[in-house]
Amino acid sequence: MINTVLGEIDASDMGRTLMHEHAVCFDVSLRNAFGKKWVDEEKAVEFIAKRLKAAKENSGIQTIVDATPINSGRDVRILKQASLLSGVNILAATGLFAFENFPIVGKSAEFFVELLMGEIFGGIEDTGIKPAVVKCATGPQGFTEINQKLLWIAGEVCKRTGIPITTHTETIDMAVEQQNFFDKNGVDLSKVIIGHTGDYNDIEKLSEIVKKGSYLGLDRFGLDEFNSLENRVNTLDQLFQKGFADSLVVSHDIVLVFDADYDDFSDFPQKAENGRTFDYFCEVVVPRLKERGYHDEDIQRLLVDNPRRFFEG
Ligand SMILES: [Zn+2]
Repeated sequence: MINTVLGEIDASDMGRTLMHEHAVCFDVSLRNAFGKKWVDEEKAVEFIAKRLKAAKENSGIQTIVDATPINSGRDVRILKQASLLSGVNILAATGLFAFENFPIVGKSAEFFVELLMGEIFGGIEDTGIKPAVVKCATGPQGFTEINQKLLWIAGEVCKRTGIPITTHTETIDMAVEQQNFFDKNGVDLSKVIIGHTGDYNDIEKLSEIVKKGSYLGLDRFGLDEFNSLENRVNTLDQLFQKGFADSLVVSHDIVLVFDADYDDFSDFPQKAENGRTFDYFCEVVVPRLKERGYHDEDIQRLLVDNPRRFFEG
């Protein structure tokens, strides 16, 4: 059974799943200070639900993983309402982003492990909603001492609860280093998605990550500024040809409602309307794969079978 924001479902009912998206990302302190001027919850919910509904109708998407860590503005109440309105399952995350601010530096790793485990066993805030995945990240600062503390926290939570990990990386070397870190700390590598690895085209290093047992998150389709569509499709194809199809998951890493995009939330959702959609993989990438001889069963592996196996553990 898998935790969604509406309660448990059987992993076999996840269907087509986008493994790394974000409904909302915002600065929590600034939202607390400025309320609706910062993020208008009602408008946000309406827009997220509309986009999810469209993905369900156009592309058969039944589930998304909201990979937003606690300190990037995760809001499970918004996720719950959007899931209710759209009929799409949403899996929420626990875990911390790579920020290195005072509380992250000051509080002990063990204390954070206890807090995150509290969300897994007791629910998030007072909602009873339980996370399905642990998020962690290595950011522009790289593999610092504090970053290792954050990765250790995620690894311990995974080891003690069995909840799998999904990560953010910014270079192929960070991706390799993250996996090595989890390995050294005794984390079951089959419970780890090394994220954003579709941004890199080093097939040899990507293959090594798969051979050691983790999943690759080819999770930024449509983010051309980080890697072209051509490269992303070639990389996926080469990994497939090498026999690694069962270790690949796909997504877009869309941030549907991002506070940084608006000066004034009264403009919302005009700008968001022109943004990326959850249909891109099915509408743009799948036809390209089919041109290369891919069959429906191959697409099924990426969108259905691999997410299911990842969460079934
Ligand atoms: Zn992300």
